Amino acid sequence: MKTDLNLPLSHEAGSGDSSNERSVLFEAADLSFSYPGGSPVLKNINLKIYKGDFTIIVGLNGSGKSTFAYHLNGLYRPTSGKMTVLGKDTKERKHLSQIRREVGIVFQNPYTQFVGNTVEEDIAFGPENLGLSREEIKKRVSAVLKAVSLEDRAYQDPSSLSGGEAQATAIAGVLAMDPECIVLDEVTSMLDIEAEDRVLDLIDGLRARGKTLVYISHNPKDLLKADRIIVFDKGEISFDGGLCGYIASGKYRLPDMIELLRHLRENGMDISETISDPKEAADEILKQIRS
Ligand code: ADP
Repeated sequence: MKTDLNLPLSHEAGSGDSSNERSVLFEAADLSFSYPGGSPVLKNINLKIYKGDFTIIVGLNGSGKSTFAYHLNGLYRPTSGKMTVLGKDTKERKHLSQIRREVGIVFQNPYTQFVGNTVEEDIAFGPENLGLSREEIKKRVSAVLKAVSLEDRAYQDPSSLSGGEAQATAIAGVLAMDPECIVLDEVTSMLDIEAEDRVLDLIDGLRARGKTLVYISHNPKDLLKADRIIVFDKGEISFDGGLCGYIASGKYRLPDMIELLRHLRENGMDISETISDPKEAADEILKQIRS
């Protein structure tokens, strides 16, 4: 998928005046959080996340990414400060069921997320909890099975699926709720490369359909897809902006392809700064070599 390096600039610094007309989905205001008896794991987080954006959250292990993600659907609530989802404060219990309907989370280990005896049953669980009609549930289950290419696994025990299929089932279960946003917490970290590709393709498809996505990732190559990159460092945000700013900061590990292009440029190849798509990069390199 091509990410125009110029595009993310409109999201630089996480908001800015240009974003005023866009709908705010999440707003953290001075959000701090400590686990019982512990010191703060999140410290005075302030940010807004807008509908339709693909935000990637990165940072070292233990920097607070998952803890923050669990604030996005009220699984965790701030120790101090505030988190609102579609304008609703997650501390008010009366809002929690609606917030959880609008924000689905997919976790690292797909096998711990299953509740049904078959893939179909598992995917139907969420819509059943929403109290939807039989007919609507059937429609949704069949649509998402198709969307994640699992039609031929519908009657299989989810625990017998391969890693990629299992994670696709977990994503389908969330999709069937038709949430406004899907939060993906390191969803590929337990998968082999083939399974990872399958899940990444799925994420690309969700993005193409305009779903709001918050993706916690450990893999720099995922940064190429993002509208916005947020870096967590010891419970604080150390960077919030687009890919251009992230690269320019010179502080972080870059996707291998960006590193490669940078080395080629430093060694005299005239390669455009706006490339972040592998095919485009290959074309440009070949053009240089052949000229
Ligand atoms: P990340 O997702 O960036 O790896 P986490 O949000 O999982 O970071 O963890 C942030 C910090 O909170 C770490 O120091 C971790 O040990 C601590 N932590 C995470 N979960 C718990 C928990 N359930 N109880 C106590 N401390 C926790």
